[in-house]
Amino acid sequence: MPTAMEIYKLLPKKNCGECKFPTCLAFAMQLANQKAALEACPYVSPEAKAALEDSGAPPIRLVSFGSGERAVKTGDETQLFRHDKTFYHPTVLGLVVDCSQGLDKVNAALDEVKALEFERVGQMVRVDAVALRQSGASPEAFAEAAEAACAQPLPVVLMSEDPKAMEAAAARCKSRPLLHRATPANLDAMAAVAKASGCPLVVGGAANLDELGQLADRAKKAGVQDLVLEPASGTAQEMLASMTTIRRAAVRKKHRPLGYPTVAVLGRAQPDQLKAALGVMKYSSIVLMEELPREFVYPLMALRQNIFTDPQVPIQVKAGLYTVGEPNERSPVMFTTNFSLTYFTVRADIEKSKIPAWLLVVDTEGQSVMTAFAAGKLTPESVAKAIEAEKVKEKSKRGEIVIPGMVSRMSGKLNELTEMKVIVGSRESSGIPKMMRSLSQ
Ligand code: SF4
Repeated sequence: MPTAMEIYKLLPKKNCGECKFPTCLAFAMQLANQKAALEACPYVSPEAKAALEDSGAPPIRLVSFGSGERAVKTGDETQLFRHDKTFYHPTVLGLVVDCSQGLDKVNAALDEVKALEFERVGQMVRVDAVALRQSGASPEAFAEAAEAACAQPLPVVLMSEDPKAMEAAAARCKSRPLLHRATPANLDAMAAVAKASGCPLVVGGAANLDELGQLADRAKKAGVQDLVLEPASGTAQEMLASMTTIRRAAVRKKHRPLGYPTVAVLGRAQPDQLKAALGVMKYSSIVLMEELPREFVYPLMALRQNIFTDPQVPIQVKAGLYTVGEPNERSPVMFTTNFSLTYFTVRADIEKSKIPAWLLVVDTEGQSVMTAFAAGKLTPESVAKAIEAEKVKEKSKRGEIVIPGMVSRMSGKLNELTEMKVIVGSRESSGIPKMMRSLSQ
């Protein structure tokens, strides 16, 4: 990997700032840290570009498929461990449907996938893709199913090892499906299909990771840059070992033949559900399953959301005065912090009481009540300021505010600053419904 000075020597040294960095040296330092892309400089010569390609490329290639708003991106990860920085692209989850069961079955699967979404801490979590497996379907039936699937917004994976069937199906799709897959037996023909259609390609069927890397290199030489690796399936332990080896080789050693996103294609048995969870945690970029029962996939999506949340940036809601139900001048006011999980938990517990209320959300940079209080980010002064800014006393004429039980110590000072009666609420959010009912109306 070239150093910043080695990169600098190859840059044009115009110091024009068009790359959004003030000097070529500053740009070189960002390139060396993989925090900038070489394309940002319009003046790099082709020779320098070729020489610097490696320094600008992420250790794992970014590969996308699908089109429009629902298109998914995979790869472009830079870390082995989430706590070192963050993981960027959540595992793509998809449902595999067998095309030999007819077009009605394919359409039913599309509807099923579209329904698998819910809101959690203010974010929509959903199943992302549908994978069409040719199985015993004729090339024409496979192409027909591909056309139907690609006509709607979900990203599509086409699964066939028959290059002719894949060519016909890909030709009917305008939404850049992922082609699954090239194997040692069909690689040249399948790479030709991927190159002609401009679609990303899965390589798999190799006996070991060395052979998998060689297949990826062959596909790359054949002109296909956007590749996804499918290591041989096996036990959960074997899957973990393969995925970890690939990630380690790509990130730590910058071993280019394995510097691509990965896919795990799983069945419907219980061990496969374990493998899906394992894939989300360690390091499957895409997990495709034959069955996605809600009681399994909902927790899986919550797990994925947790893993792919940036540990350095808490999920926040906007600070301000929120309504729960239809509060009026006689409705109670309570406050909490703008950490999403806290806000949505408190809000849900107020809703349970069925008593309309005003909920003041104080900006604590996304920290929870106790953390913010201990860090000095939730103080009587900051709460009083929020009460003033949001004109709380005009919205509720009760002249009182309910504070979280955990910060009861601020009640005296808050009363002094706001001249509002301070009611110490429950310590836990779960106590809110009972506490709300006890407040006089
Ligand atoms: Fe230097 Fe290129 Fe950046 Fe201009 S755009 S400052 S020439 S690196």
